[in-house]
Amino acid sequence: MPKFKCHCGLIMQLHMEGKEYEFELVQEKNIMKSIEKLEEGNLSINEFIEFMKTNRDVYQCPKCRRLWIEEEKNKFSSYIKE
Ligand SMILES: [Zn+2]
Repeated sequence: MPKFKCHCGLIMQLHMEGKEYEFELVQEKNIMKSIEKLEEGNLSINEFIEFMKTNRDVYQCPKCRRLWIEEEKNKFSSYIKE
């Protein structure tokens, strides 16, 4: 099971159902395309998955609330509230 360690020391178990700290960063234009196709009654599950596919995972540490954004494959940048 893949794990991700935050700067604060917390270790997140990844890709487990029900984990509230895993997100996807989806471009707004893809969300809008999905809504348009949905309103037209013309959105297949495969199209929806394609619109939502980003390869940009986002994790939010449940301890320190730091955001980790995958800038490129397996390369993350961290952001914390100032
Ligand atoms: Zn943390």
